[in-house]
Amino acid sequence: MSARLLPIRPQFDTKDVCAKDRAHVLHPWEHFPPGPRKDNLVIVEGDGAFVFDSEGRRYLDGVGGLWCVNVGHGRETIANAMSKQAKRLAYYNQFVDTATEPAAELASRLAEIAPESLNRVFFSSGGSDANEAAVRTIHHYFNRLGMPQKKKLISRADAYHGTTYLTMTLTGKFDDHVGFDLVDNLVHYVSSPNAYRRPAGTSLEEFTDLLVCELEDAILRLGPENVAAFFAEPVLGAGGVIVPPAGYHERTLEVCRRHGVLYVSDEVVTGFGRLGHMFASKEMFGIEPDIITCAKGLTSGYAPLGATLVSDAIYDAIRVSDPRNPYFSHGFTYSGHPVCCAAALANLDILEAEDLCGRVRELGPYFEEQLATLKDLPIVGDVRGSRFMLCVENVADKQSKALLPEEVDIGKRISDHCEARGLLVRPLGHLNVLSPPLILSRDQIDSLVSILRESIEETQDDLVREGAWRG
Ligand code: PLP
Repeated sequence: MSARLLPIRPQFDTKDVCAKDRAHVLHPWEHFPPGPRKDNLVIVEGDGAFVFDSEGRRYLDGVGGLWCVNVGHGRETIANAMSKQAKRLAYYNQFVDTATEPAAELASRLAEIAPESLNRVFFSSGGSDANEAAVRTIHHYFNRLGMPQKKKLISRADAYHGTTYLTMTLTGKFDDHVGFDLVDNLVHYVSSPNAYRRPAGTSLEEFTDLLVCELEDAILRLGPENVAAFFAEPVLGAGGVIVPPAGYHERTLEVCRRHGVLYVSDEVVTGFGRLGHMFASKEMFGIEPDIITCAKGLTSGYAPLGATLVSDAIYDAIRVSDPRNPYFSHGFTYSGHPVCCAAALANLDILEAEDLCGRVRELGPYFEEQLATLKDLPIVGDVRGSRFMLCVENVADKQSKALLPEEVDIGKRISDHCEARGLLVRPLGHLNVLSPPLILSRDQIDSLVSILRESIEETQDDLVREGAWRG
């Protein structure tokens, strides 16, 4: 039986949109393949777990927009809250001794749901600038403590922390660095906690020991007096949906504490329900970081908003007036934008009223189990992740874990077949990543997995026919 999800909605002028898009838009991570390119899919509408394209086709949104549409598409209460705020006061700045109600309300709500010591919130417009704000705040903090040399940052291979100059330097997806420049001598990278690709013959416990020792060695080699902070996503997202081994978070935090290194938890993806908690750091992994950064699910993508939650200890140090410059000289025009904060407040209302965290804790294990059934497919090397943040890793050979040549573009071929069947999944190199809205039903999980299975099988057949893979 073929799994398909494609009823029809009214038509749209797709050709015109594609022509303008092709002529004028430079897309984020725009792909410039050597050969001819097909037009992009034009998404025009969303409803619950579905989106619709300009030709009226319906797709189950396995991508959640981009790890962000946590409460699902088409939520009227969020749209209404934004509209009401825009009509009342669309914008006022937060710089010159002024405040706005939505930003104050949201900051207080975030302080309530964050770990106890994180009570101060700096707003930005997304995840990159939330991390950028974390770095500038940390550097400023050590300046204020009289430790101006304590500036180096430690990040991990496979980490993704953003796309500004500084946060791309923090990013450890090294292929993304090719052809671009980085900030010099600022970031030191340690290994990815990817258990699937750990050294052969190493147990999980030994692997964890290696990772923890490597972090401590790096701090000692750089000199604790020079190392300001360790940046870590609780579950690495764009680098391959990597759940670090048990005990990793507590032990890396302990190493940081012992050497006076701040711990920044980048919860841009993991926050607001994706792992079944508002924040995963403490509730899931038992750690209380010095800073948590978040964005995406904070508004479920209805408006651009990021936040940097700072510990009382950091705030207490930077609030002391400095006669040379009594300002915290960091801020964006749109910090605490009233319409974006109103969207976030309405989004938090939905997350709480519908107990979407509880739903993810309940359905997440089912989703993981169902996706794991794909492991019987010859090309599927690994299925991993946690709850509503999952991925399939495709390989040429399960035994050696060797990858298919890059030009096969395996993730994209599979996602194209999914698209034809009414499912959007994200191709990331040899991976297919899933981060759907948290409202997905059991039946929708079943459809998603069965479409993905058929699409992988079709791709395997294509590759064998083309002689690109032995099967
Ligand atoms: N941090 C993480 C973990 C992310 O996944 C992302 C984006 O995907 C970012 C930061 C950057 O966020 P933004 O794209 O909103 O700048």
